[in-house]
Amino acid sequence: MIPDDVVDEVRARADIVDIIGEHVALKRAGKDFKARCPFHEERTPSFYVVPSKGFYKCFGCNESGDVFTFLMKRLGLSFVDAVKAVAVRVGVEVRDVSRQGGEDPHRHLHEANSFAQEFFKKALWDRNAGRPARAYLKKRGIGRDAVERFDLGFAPDEWRSLREGAAVHGIEDPVLLEVGLLVQREIGKEPYDRFRNRIIFPIQSASGRTLAFGGRILGQSGKGAPKYLNSPETPVYHKGEVLYGLSWGKNAIRREEGGLVVEGYMDAVSLAAGGIENVVAPLGTSMTEDQAKLLARYCTKVFLLFDSDAAGLKATFRAGDVLLAAGLHPS
Ligand SMILES: [Zn+2]
Repeated sequence: MIPDDVVDEVRARADIVDIIGEHVALKRAGKDFKARCPFHEERTPSFYVVPSKGFYKCFGCNESGDVFTFLMKRLGLSFVDAVKAVAVRVGVEVRDVSRQGGEDPHRHLHEANSFAQEFFKKALWDRNAGRPARAYLKKRGIGRDAVERFDLGFAPDEWRSLREGAAVHGIEDPVLLEVGLLVQREIGKEPYDRFRNRIIFPIQSASGRTLAFGGRILGQSGKGAPKYLNSPETPVYHKGEVLYGLSWGKNAIRREEGGLVVEGYMDAVSLAAGGIENVVAPLGTSMTEDQAKLLARYCTKVFLLFDSDAAGLKATFRAGDVLLAAGLHPS
């Protein structure tokens, strides 16, 4: 297999018009391109390539997909070979992890994150321990559908429950520390769970891999217990490069041809629970250049819904500049 982020990068860099144009006689149609469909017999063109979104679609036979799907269907390539074929053209080095025997160097970190996500989910649905957390979500209008879609969980109000659960599964302290799930105040001191008594929001890459967690405190925030707490930067999580909600909302963002940018994961999940699905949130930052570029893969229009207090307005202006620089149209 090829790591998800490499696949995403190859797709983002590929010129889909150029590549499909080698197999099909494309004609310009406004911002898009059309041709007679290579997948079914037709006299008048109903096959469209939409470069701004990186996909093709035939309105005659409903074939659709991205640059990889096209090569797989047209040339009979496997997914891995299709990615490699495009990667060569765009100058991205692809290492096929499974075939060359090399391992994903971060596999242990991803395993720890997967374990933690399941652990938090189980705690949320635990009959007794999860009851206050479920009641809170219900009060905020976040129903079971949204809870499941966003893989929400609950970190119990205990110092070492995750650590002990992980140990049973052979996941050791150094790994949990590296991925930010444990905190150790000083060398030699016993590590403890970073997330305690919090609703947990897994933070995923655009392709849906959990990289980190955000937690909202249940009840009152207080001394040393901020309302929101996120995983620190780790080898697999760089907060300025991830947009919360994109893995769940990207199809809606494409469909609606625009994305809503809100401040935090709580806002994003609340809106999605209310049926507004094309939502993302930067994580503790206004909006970075990388985040804007990520969003620009899926749409050209962006609506900023930050708080109307002074800090929110400042963040709105800063985000506006970054979005414009990435070729997006904020409003
Ligand atoms: Zn067709």
